[in-house]
Amino acid sequence: MKCKIQVTLEDEQGQIQVEDVIRLDKNISDQDYCAGLSLQESKQLLKILQGKIVLFEAQAYANTHRDCPCCHTKRRIKDCRYIQYKTLFGTVVTPSLRLYNCKCSDNREKTFNILRGWLPQHISPELQYIETKWASYMAYEKTANNKNQN
Ligand SMILES: [Zn+2]
Repeated sequence: MKCKIQVTLEDEQGQIQVEDVIRLDKNISDQDYCAGLSLQESKQLLKILQGKIVLFEAQAYANTHRDCPCCHTKRRIKDCRYIQYKTLFGTVVTPSLRLYNCKCSDNREKTFNILRGWLPQHISPELQYIETKWASYMAYEKTANNKNQN
């Protein structure tokens, strides 16, 4: 049995983009056959899906914030860099344009990263929460172990 999973992404202007996410080739007569998704397949699916969605959102954000908010002219591109965005489902590498600030802007910086306003931190709030929670447990465990040793 072959299974193809696609995602349909629609931006604010109504433009639709369909992308393949994953293809699964399952043989029901295999000894290690698992009905539905295995844990490994589901992790792979979520990682790929997360990457596609974040890239789509980053592109949509960049498209809607390319113009100067004051005079509405397109800001010139200096270069393109890549930022890493860490999520619960893996790290997503997304291109991010560096633009020149418009002459009408009173900003002292010549250039800026267009995704800085959208992703000021390169970690998702959910991942940050989980990491903080785990860190608090580990600190308690260490403290408890040290207390028992004394
Ligand atoms: Zn301007």
